[in-house]
Amino acid sequence: MAISTATADRPAQSAAEETEALTPSEVERLRLDFPALHVKRNGKSLVYLDNAATSQKPKAVIERLDQYYRSENANVHRGMHYLSEVATAAYEDARKKVQRFLGIPLTCEVVFTRGTTEGINLVAQTYGRKNVGPDDEIIISAMEHHSNIVPWQMLCDEKGAKLRVVPVDDRGELVLDEYARLLNGRTKLVAVTHVSNALGTVNPVKEIIALAHAQGVPVLLDGAQATPHLPVNVQALDCDFYACSAHKMFGPTGIGVLYGKAEFLNRMPPYQGGGDMILSVTFEKTTYSGLPYKFEAGTPDIAGAIGLGEAVDYLEAIGMRRIAKYEHELTQYGTELLSSIDGVRIIGTAKEKAGVLSFTMESAHPHDIGQIFNDCGVAIRAGHHCAQPVMQRFGVPATARASLAFYNTKEDLDALAVAVHKVKEVFD
Ligand code: PLP
Repeated sequence: MAISTATADRPAQSAAEETEALTPSEVERLRLDFPALHVKRNGKSLVYLDNAATSQKPKAVIERLDQYYRSENANVHRGMHYLSEVATAAYEDARKKVQRFLGIPLTCEVVFTRGTTEGINLVAQTYGRKNVGPDDEIIISAMEHHSNIVPWQMLCDEKGAKLRVVPVDDRGELVLDEYARLLNGRTKLVAVTHVSNALGTVNPVKEIIALAHAQGVPVLLDGAQATPHLPVNVQALDCDFYACSAHKMFGPTGIGVLYGKAEFLNRMPPYQGGGDMILSVTFEKTTYSGLPYKFEAGTPDIAGAIGLGEAVDYLEAIGMRRIAKYEHELTQYGTELLSSIDGVRIIGTAKEKAGVLSFTMESAHPHDIGQIFNDCGVAIRAGHHCAQPVMQRFGVPATARASLAFYNTKEDLDALAVAVHKVKEVFD
């Protein structure tokens, strides 16, 4: 498959072109793009099933970073010299690629951040501090990652506001009737995850947004686990903010994106002060740059943004619908495999799921499971996945979590099942 054929001004493949799931032979070819998938341990390639923590990087991204540092490195927006012009053009081109990838209406609505966590903190500290007061309410859900809980808790503590939590049912789906009841005249923001990292649930975010908007309440979506797996179009969703991280999207660590509707971003104060976010500075008064630079103080992660641009080109060349379809089949296969093993309990059985198989075993603690899996050359994550409240909801301290990407195969899941049997051999 040809990779990286899309450009910033060429539209991505149409939906019709990408409705078929990736085929196993295509996946085999794509796997060759990922050097880390071929790292050997005890003579065997690793089985990498920890993609929700971070994904592996294709050669196109690695080589783009190398090229940037070898022949384009300079600071952006400042230097009046050749390299600075090249770096600035590449950095701004990456912004346009992200704009296209997420269906963002205006280029200036793409704010580069360090990642999802920073994007959410930015909104809490700017929109939140400006608009939230005593007895106001912020709605989150019981399945949030800590990065979509703690920033709101900090804000509520500071302002005397209240955090309201949408409950999760036994399948791991949000109880929407409860959500509708929680929305009221004091609600200042709804902040929910698009896809749960701990359960894999794909939330009905369009419905969640429509209900909030009917009451004039803006919505932030945590897109960390959605953008690597699903086609995302913020305009179609009509969310007001959307945060995601490049490192989960086959791009570099240390860079992410916050989308915000310009009507909100324009009215928000800056997040951090410093270079690049100002128009003029005197000791008496500083005036700020327009969007998006008002929110990008200091030298940004230039290489990271360019690498992210390359990653989204790569994903678009494959087609997000095809990825979603393939991963759906893979998730079903893995679910059936795990469900057929005695003593395995799958945590999170929502109808709509994206690429996460969280489970516990009667006989072994998740950390023991992770250890034995590691011995078997299968990389998963064991723990609370930075989502302690949802662990409490399901009455478990932790789970073992296998999380998929489009480069995983049924053979990887077969290896997972073999490792589960190994755990049973040791602990049963
Ligand atoms: N939100 C969700 C749902 C996540 O899974 C993660 C990371 O695992 C984050 C937020 C935080 O992302 P980052 O650490 O890249 O800021």
